[in-house]
Amino acid sequence: MFLLVENAEVYAPDILGRQDILVAGEKIVWIGRQLTAKNTLPGLKTIDGSRYLAVPGFVDNHIHIAGGGGEGSFRTRTPEVSLTDLTSAGITSVIGVIGTDCVTRHTSSLVAKAKSLEEEGISAWALLGSYQLPIRTFTGHIQDDIVLIDKLIGVGEVAISDHRSSQPVRDELARIAAAARVGGLLSGKGGLVNVHLGDGLSNLDMLFDIAATSEISLAQFLPTHLNRNPQLFEEAIRFGLAGGYVDVTTSTTPVFLEEGEVKCSKAMKRLLDAGVPVERISFSSDGQGSLPDFDENGNFKGLSIGRAKSIWPEVRDAVSLENIPLETALKAITSSPSDHHKLPGRKGHIEVGSDADMVLLDENLDIDTVIARGKVMVSNGEILVFGAFERN
Ligand code: ZN
Repeated sequence: MFLLVENAEVYAPDILGRQDILVAGEKIVWIGRQLTAKNTLPGLKTIDGSRYLAVPGFVDNHIHIAGGGGEGSFRTRTPEVSLTDLTSAGITSVIGVIGTDCVTRHTSSLVAKAKSLEEEGISAWALLGSYQLPIRTFTGHIQDDIVLIDKLIGVGEVAISDHRSSQPVRDELARIAAAARVGGLLSGKGGLVNVHLGDGLSNLDMLFDIAATSEISLAQFLPTHLNRNPQLFEEAIRFGLAGGYVDVTTSTTPVFLEEGEVKCSKAMKRLLDAGVPVERISFSSDGQGSLPDFDENGNFKGLSIGRAKSIWPEVRDAVSLENIPLETALKAITSSPSDHHKLPGRKGHIEVGSDADMVLLDENLDIDTVIARGKVMVSNGEILVFGAFERN
């Protein structure tokens, strides 16, 4: 099946100008102007892209696809994400994580959820583990799991500086990073350790310490929620300047922002101004994760839920409120997270040979059309493809 997006302003995420993009099956096979062979392609569908910007499908590298949470007891276990929660938000690739609850949530169900999203039309992977150590593996070894299980591309989210963590010590985390690294090397995967940061005062100290005293570099880690308080965010700038990746979380609440969480669009501006390259910055939604609120004594106060749809508005705000060029801001949800994790199919890039994942944005930078692996999932803002049980 062929699909031709004609005359769109293409951000690949770098600016390519007005181009036509030809999709065959699940891949982009040609980018150029005025395809001469157009009339010879059987069943060709065309989209007039002249009113649109074509950007890569969004990559959400930290999302609780199989649900998470539970810090307010069983009734606060959060539900699984649905296909259209993602596609309506422009997200065509996800990396799933478990979170706080490693008792009733398992990597096996996370991998199954990734496979189900893949069958429904988008692309999905998973990380091995949860907040707590030791990590529960399939084979007995982290390295073997990453090498042998296709959907597993790294470890995470392991919690540090958080009262919900297993209070890991430096050597434990260093050995996990070493196993993830070798597993990644042997299988062509990122092999990163996604590290959840809480509000603990030690912030990123353990990661700096590991890099200073072992052969593991800062870039072996992908720490997340680094915008959750002002002190941690200052450390995040230092981490990014020292060669580490900085992931910030777009799901938030008015209370969190009031308490000092740094809004992602502002965080990007601060990071870029400080000299952290955008290639080291990513945004993730923390969708379906619980957003619990604790008082100063660690008592549970209440909880809301993260949303996948929070990811695009923060990039749009980075452009419209912080004057960051679209081609730069886009990288935080396209090429940067894809490249960090070495995702196959050149996710997060529009180029010949890459998977055909695209979002068409209208003149207001609203999401109009979403294409995942060559299939139109959303058109003119209307959902065309639903998940298995979304309509019955
Ligand atoms: Zn987390």
